[in-house]
Amino acid sequence: MEALDRRGRPLRDLRISVTDRCNLRCTYCMPREHFGPDHAFLPKSDILSFEHIADVVGACKDLGLRKIRITGGEPLLRRDLDVLVKLLRDVHPEADLALTTNGVLLERHAERLLEAGLDRVTVSMDALSTPVYSAMGDVEHGPEATLQGIEKARAVGLRVKVNCVVRAGVNEGELVPLVEHFGPLGVPVRFIEFMDVGATNQWSLDEVITSKKVRSMLAAHFGEVTPLDATAYGEVARRWRTPQGWEIGTIDSISAPFCGDCTRARLAADGSVHTCLFSTEGKPLMPLIKAGASRAEIQAAVRSIWTERSDAYSEERSKSTQQPSERVEMSYIGG
Ligand code: SAM
Ligand code: SF4
Ligand code: SF4
Repeated sequence: MEALDRRGRPLRDLRISVTDRCNLRCTYCMPREHFGPDHAFLPKSDILSFEHIADVVGACKDLGLRKIRITGGEPLLRRDLDVLVKLLRDVHPEADLALTTNGVLLERHAERLLEAGLDRVTVSMDALSTPVYSAMGDVEHGPEATLQGIEKARAVGLRVKVNCVVRAGVNEGELVPLVEHFGPLGVPVRFIEFMDVGATNQWSLDEVITSKKVRSMLAAHFGEVTPLDATAYGEVARRWRTPQGWEIGTIDSISAPFCGDCTRARLAADGSVHTCLFSTEGKPLMPLIKAGASRAEIQAAVRSIWTERSDAYSEERSKSTQQPSERVEMSYIGG
């Protein structure tokens, strides 16, 4: 039976972080000064096995789960990720099964992921030009591997979207080139407002370029964009069409929060459940799992976590008393 939280929101989506590690150091997510060689990532013994993740998904299925997103950290750093995809597909054949990745390792994995049952992939890419790409990701290389990953994913038949975090003074100049490149390929680019998630990214409102501004910048180049209908309940992106017929998306997390229909839970790599991106602590499932709990027992635990939920951080951001230092990082909780 479906689970509703204290605001009447159903549990529809599960984002699963399969690792807290990453091969990039995006300044807005894992700044190198906090995620350097001394950073204590989760030890292997604390990370959920694929079988345990599938058990949790099986437990959530009867609570109303429809969408599953595998994320991280960088999920493609987890060995044999296609094995997890296959397990999830078997346990929930009707689910919309997606992967969020920086795409650097996608080319070599795309085909096996599709064969295992993945429906689609969202590739994060903040710039096409090498200097801006490498500055945003704090890496030596440019976007070539990610572009090849996207091409391969499209060629094998995965549906692809691109996510771009917009940061004032850093990558505004990339918005038009990204749409010009991906629009004709039928790949929607979704622009995300830089968020105050975690405690390390030195977020400030001055660095947020609102989606409205993004749309006016694009309109100045391509012509006015027109709104499209939302595709699904709880869809985070607002969809738009350029006069050329290309779809773009905006994720207005700061300027127009969407907590009212937030149907997302997050399963961190260590098995803790978080009911908000801005949570300060999760509810651990690992002790239950290690004790050999049945699917029904895991389901009861998730139901109780969800029905207790009343989160609406983004809508209450301005009056929040939560200290940034208490918030968990996006790379751990799963973006
Ligand atoms: N490593 C994968 C990737 O980059 O796609 C998956 C994990 S990443 C945490 C998931 C998404 O979160 C990415 O699209 C990333 O751009 C976004 N993200 C991370 N930090 C963010 C922030 N401070 N504000 C907005 N989006 C952010
Ligand atoms: Fe890694 Fe993704 Fe975070 Fe960038 S956004 S540091 S690629 S987890
Ligand atoms: Fe959902 Fe929390 Fe984001 Fe609001 S702030 S949309 S409750 S994750």
